[in-house]
Amino acid sequence: MGKTSIEWTRGDDGSAGATWNPIRGCSRITPGCGGPNHQGGCYAEKIAARFSGPGQPFEGFAERSAHGGRWTGKMALVDDMLTLPLRWKRPRRIFVNSMSDLFHDNLPDEAIDKVFAVMALCPQHTFQVLTKRADRMRTWFAERWQGTPAQRIKVGREIVDIPAGGETGRKHQVEIAVEAVLEDFPKMTDTSNDDLWTDAGSLKIRQYKWPLPNVWLGVSVEDRARKPRIADLRATPAAIRFLSCEPLLEGLGELDLTGIHQVIIGGESGPRSRPFALEWARSIVGQCKASGVACFVKQLGAKPGDRPSPQSCHEPIKLKDRKGGDWSEWPEDLRVREFPT
Ligand code: SF4
Repeated sequence: MGKTSIEWTRGDDGSAGATWNPIRGCSRITPGCGGPNHQGGCYAEKIAARFSGPGQPFEGFAERSAHGGRWTGKMALVDDMLTLPLRWKRPRRIFVNSMSDLFHDNLPDEAIDKVFAVMALCPQHTFQVLTKRADRMRTWFAERWQGTPAQRIKVGREIVDIPAGGETGRKHQVEIAVEAVLEDFPKMTDTSNDDLWTDAGSLKIRQYKWPLPNVWLGVSVEDRARKPRIADLRATPAAIRFLSCEPLLEGLGELDLTGIHQVIIGGESGPRSRPFALEWARSIVGQCKASGVACFVKQLGAKPGDRPSPQSCHEPIKLKDRKGGDWSEWPEDLRVREFPT
């Protein structure tokens, strides 16, 4: 947990980003998690299996197998990890759950509420949430965020509830989770953070802007069958929406990039990687350019090739970097690394 070399979490000043894993566990859901015949596959699953022995952090969450390991599908919120970003004072760009999927079906809504509560309490950071469960993400937002939020006011040491206005008067589940987190960590009631608290007369009022301006939401789109996730993402309230086309497994054809702010592209790396055709990336780079969407080519993967093909019989390109991550080796037109503004 902490610093990461993942390029798309870098800060605008080039500083290293961070990962934060408040959720433990996962299970494979689509080809992006791994192909048939043990091609490619989830790096998190491999790491988890390695630490799944008795007394180890992933005991019960993953198992060793003849082919390197398997998630068991058990999911849990890790209390010790939950509040980590509250303790990081320096602003960071943070990849949330690099080792899991926040919107996994086996995770209760209340756990997701708490993760969003911590993000609400950390306006100094930018959080990047990436999921393959776009439908659950859409449902969770619809069910947990809709309605008009109530405000809670702090008067000296007293907490006073202001009734919500609007249609439903229902309080955001996330705000309820914020109170729970603050109860567990009373030091966070410090009202000196001007980004979160504002003076109104003699009162300190906690400010929430919905959707949270410091949270980016993204979905993985590794092949054409996964394109409907883009519509789910578009229907979800978010300050910034991004697509992660990694590992890109085939050409995606035409993309509707309405409401999308950034597209990340990458070929697969690691043992038994699947091939990646530069044409697939070129098509996406071109569409981003035409739509004014930021594009970020992360890596060409372990098996880049010149000619698109559903099999591996394309014309391979030899690169020195094993992940194809050194852009000085790339064709010039693919050297694109943009962030949303
Ligand atoms: S969703 Fe992500 S973490 Fe979960 S199995 Fe797939 S690749 Fe791994």
